[in-house]
Amino acid sequence: MRILLVEDDRMIGEAVQAALQEAAYAVDWVRDGRAALDAASSQRYDMVLLDLGLPGRDGLEVLASLRRERNAVPVLIMTARDSLQDRLQGLDGGADDYLLKPFELEELLARMRAVLRRQAGSAQPVLSSGSLSLDPATHEASYQDHPPVALSNREFALLQALMARPGAILSRADLEDRVYGWGQEVESNAIEFLIHGLRRKLGRDAIKNVRGAGWMVPRNA
Ligand code: CA
Repeated sequence: MRILLVEDDRMIGEAVQAALQEAAYAVDWVRDGRAALDAASSQRYDMVLLDLGLPGRDGLEVLASLRRERNAVPVLIMTARDSLQDRLQGLDGGADDYLLKPFELEELLARMRAVLRRQAGSAQPVLSSGSLSLDPATHEASYQDHPPVALSNREFALLQALMARPGAILSRADLEDRVYGWGQEVESNAIEFLIHGLRRKLGRDAIKNVRGAGWMVPRNA
């Protein structure tokens, strides 16, 4: 999952970025509204974490621009503004959830999972497809009747990307996009290496290789 973090406060930005990376999200961090809109128009994100008090164009303007451009990316507002008016403006402006600063990083992560679940049209906390299941809260996966195994952050990010679109073939570039954020170096065989690790943990057939095109997990039978 690739997240756009829009936050001008350096300390908060660093803390959130570190927590997101620790939770296996690919993160691109921008510090003002214009950069946020540029990023959102050139890259597909799974979610935007949006501060409201930003230099230049503020967060509500960024949100309004995104929705005007028919960008339906889930937006979670994180802000110190706590007036009812601001909350209503954010939610009515198309935000999906709202978190007041200061917040616990654990709560941010839990709310992100909830928003992503709703986005996927599912109330179930565990993703499943075919014989595979994946728990976004624990990063454990299981295949067929085998007991769940713990995945590394990048293994989790990759499998989550495949399971978000069962039956679709994702190319190496698609997967790199979901696993690595700005400034994270991608080695040439990194995706193959992660797939190899996942198959070793889950079983050879858990992920299908489509020669020359990419990889997929089967749709629910
Ligand atoms: Ca701010």
